[in-house]
Amino acid sequence: MKALVLTGKKQLEIQNLDQPEPKANEVLVNAKYAGICGTDYALYNGLPGSAPAVPPIVLGHENSGVVAAVGSDVKDLKVGDKVTVDPNIYCGKCDYCRTSRPELCESLSAVGVTRNGGLEEYFTAPETVVYKLPENVDLKSAATCEPISCAVHGMELLDIKPYQKALVIGDGFMGLIFAQMLKSYGVKSVDLTGRHDDKLAEEKEKLGVDRVINTTKEKIPAEYDVVIEAVGQPATQEQAVEATVKGAQVLMFGVGAPDQKFSMNTYEVFQKQLTIKGAFINPNSFEGAIALLQSGKVDVNKIIDNVISLEDVESVLNGTSNLKGKSVVKISD
Ligand SMILES: [Zn+2]
Ligand SMILES: [Zn+2]
Repeated sequence: MKALVLTGKKQLEIQNLDQPEPKANEVLVNAKYAGICGTDYALYNGLPGSAPAVPPIVLGHENSGVVAAVGSDVKDLKVGDKVTVDPNIYCGKCDYCRTSRPELCESLSAVGVTRNGGLEEYFTAPETVVYKLPENVDLKSAATCEPISCAVHGMELLDIKPYQKALVIGDGFMGLIFAQMLKSYGVKSVDLTGRHDDKLAEEKEKLGVDRVINTTKEKIPAEYDVVIEAVGQPATQEQAVEATVKGAQVLMFGVGAPDQKFSMNTYEVFQKQLTIKGAFINPNSFEGAIALLQSGKVDVNKIIDNVISLEDVESVLNGTSNLKGKSVVKISD
């Protein structure tokens, strides 16, 4: 079968691998679509994602497919089921797992990071992380359940109230997911920042956000109860803190470089009684992600920009492609 293998730092190769055999507790998935995200850029460049990836490895932690075979102990899934796979597998034995914080697991393994993922025609995963899809969720959308589930986890860390004014900083794929989720959670208003007028105008129309702010031209007003930073740069992290009113919550969702810092007025944190939170991966949040797709509250077909082939992945990851925005790879028919 065809597989895109990370063979070393900044090296991807299409190889013909043997189709894997599912173990007793595993499911063999015929991959249909796989999303490409910032984690894949990091892994391609030799940096850690949620965990370090050791080549040779097949990436693809955002995926969807159809069950092709099941191990002897698998009872709740059958051949032909449409599924998506939560990449993150927790050890269940460390202090974090045993205190209801599995996302902080000391020995996390992950499909598409520490074991082969969805950028190949067939991959295996333990039954416990395979989710059957509702009839009305298409396989292309389902490949984005993982990023949506990370946003669900982020939202669960916040205390969302109907009176709040919310701001999403950054109109990349994650920012647009958060904007749709905040709309559906019922806050007073949802504003969105970006850097291009035409892109922002289109997003306002498509997603129904209340106001868009082009930060290359306009300063963000300090009027938000909830601010979600979805870029991961020091400048936008500073904007996030500065955009708050008293009592506000800031979710630092964007992933910065491992050694990156930003500056913050600590008196402001004190005087406004701010809550600043990080959010790591997606514990128990796949059901929520699937429900958001099923109900249409999050519509990713509006915000997936490119459907590409396995052969195109390297040019997207090394920046030589001129494709912009979210790419989803079509793996098999
Ligand atoms: Zn991802
Ligand atoms: Zn653990």
